[in-house]
Amino acid sequence: AESFNAAVEAGRPLNAYTVETPEDALACAEAADAARQSGDLKPLSGIPLGIKDLFATEGVDSTSGSNILRGFKPPYESTVSANLRRAGAGMLGKLNMDEFAMGSSNETSAYGPVISPWKRNDGGNAALTPGGSSGGSAAAVAAGMAPGVTGTDTGGSIRQPAAFTGITGIKPTYGRCSRWGIVAFASSLDQAGPMARDVRDCAILLEQMAGFDHRDATSLELPVPQWEAGLSSDLKGKRIGIPKEYRIDGVPDEINALWDRGIEWLKDAGAEPVEISLPHTRYALPTYYIIAPAEASSNLARYDGVRYGLREEPQGGNLDAMYAATRAAGFGAEVKRRIMIGTYVLSAGFYDAYFTKAQRVRALIKRDFREAFAQCDLILTPTAPSAAFGLKEKMSDPLAMYLNDVFAVPASLAGLPAMSVPGGLDSQGLPLGLHLIGNELDEQGVLNAGLAIE
Ligand code: GLN
Repeated sequence: AESFNAAVEAGRPLNAYTVETPEDALACAEAADAARQSGDLKPLSGIPLGIKDLFATEGVDSTSGSNILRGFKPPYESTVSANLRRAGAGMLGKLNMDEFAMGSSNETSAYGPVISPWKRNDGGNAALTPGGSSGGSAAAVAAGMAPGVTGTDTGGSIRQPAAFTGITGIKPTYGRCSRWGIVAFASSLDQAGPMARDVRDCAILLEQMAGFDHRDATSLELPVPQWEAGLSSDLKGKRIGIPKEYRIDGVPDEINALWDRGIEWLKDAGAEPVEISLPHTRYALPTYYIIAPAEASSNLARYDGVRYGLREEPQGGNLDAMYAATRAAGFGAEVKRRIMIGTYVLSAGFYDAYFTKAQRVRALIKRDFREAFAQCDLILTPTAPSAAFGLKEKMSDPLAMYLNDVFAVPASLAGLPAMSVPGGLDSQGLPLGLHLIGNELDEQGVLNAGLAIE
C-alpha cells in the first residue's frame, strides 16, 4: 500500500511503470532523426517501448517486481531487449508486474498493484485489475502510455492481461525468443512476447524480438519469418478447431456467446470450424501448478542475499541466518507459497507422486494438441473465464486466482504459439479476449486469424 500511495502521489495513478527512463526515449527519437537524414532508418527507429521489469536492462533497475532485487542494476542487457534496441527502439521505462511473474492480477508486486485504465459502465469508480503478471505492460498500452511493450508468458501472463485491457498480445512458440537475461520463473514454460494495440504491431515487434541465441540452450536455431509481410486475413481452407472440453461449467454466457461470435468471424474470413477434443484439458491447471512452482523453487534459490539486491544481516547470526532473514524479508507471500509448493513436490518422498506424474500428464497434453492439429490448423477459445475483476477480489483465494489461467495454461504446457485479440465488450463495458492457439512454429497462422477477428 505504501509503494502504491507513493506512485499515486508521484502522478502515476495506474502505477504501470516502476521506473521511467525519458532520457532513453529521447535519445531514441534523436537517433531516429539522424537515421532519417542519413537514410539509415531501422524497423523500429524512433519507437519507444515499455519493458517488463523482469527483463535485464543494463544500468536500469531490473527487479522482477520483487523486494529481493530492489536496486539491482544489471551490468548486461537481455537478448530480447537488446534485439529491440538494435532495431532502433528506445525504452520508456520498466513495467510493473506480479512478483517474479507469479500472479494473474498484478497484485503480488512489491511496487503495489497496477490499476486498469478501464472502468465498469455502472457509473462507479471501482478499481479493476489489468490482469497479470504483465499487468503494467497491458495497462501502459491500453492507456496509451506506450505504443508497444514486452511481456512474458509462463501460463497466460501475456494473454490474460491483454484480454482484460482490450489489447493484443502473442506468446510465440517456446524457444522463439531467447530467455537470456530474463529473470527465470519456470524455465520450461517462460516465453517473451509483444503486447500492442493490434495484430500488425505485434507482428512487427515479435519479428525483432525473436531469433536464435546461443546463450539460451532452448533457443530454436531457426530463421525468423517475415510475419508482418505475411499478414493476411484470408483464411480460406483453414480449419478452426473448437475444443469441446473448453465449454467449462461456470463460465459466463457472455463469454460463450463471444466465442460463438468469434467462430462466425473466422467463417466469414473463409475458415471452416471443426469440433476437436483435447481430453486432458482438465488436468492442465493442476499440472501447471506443480511444474511451474517446482521450477520456480529451484530458480529462486539464487536469491540468497549474496549475489544480488537485498541482504538482511541479523545480529550475531551466521550465514544461514542471513539467507533466511533475506528471503523472509525479500519475498512476498505468493512467491513463498510457490517455493513451498515447489520444494514439496520435488522432495524425495513426493517427487514421483507429484513431479513425475505432472511431467507425464504434460506429455499427454502435448499429445492431445498433436492429435488435434491433425484435424485442424488453428484452435479458437476464449482467453479467460471472466472479464477483469476488481482489485482485492481474488487475492485472499489463490485457487480462484489460479482458475483464471484455465484456458491459457494448456498451450503453455505444450509450448505452442498463442495470442489474445480483443473480441468486444461485455454488458459491464469491459473488454473480452479471444484466444488463438497455433501449431508449433505457426505464429503466422495465429496472427492471420487474429487479423481476421480484429
Ligand atoms: N498466472 C499464472 C501464474 O501465476 C501465469 C503467470 C505467468 O504466465 N507468468 O503462474
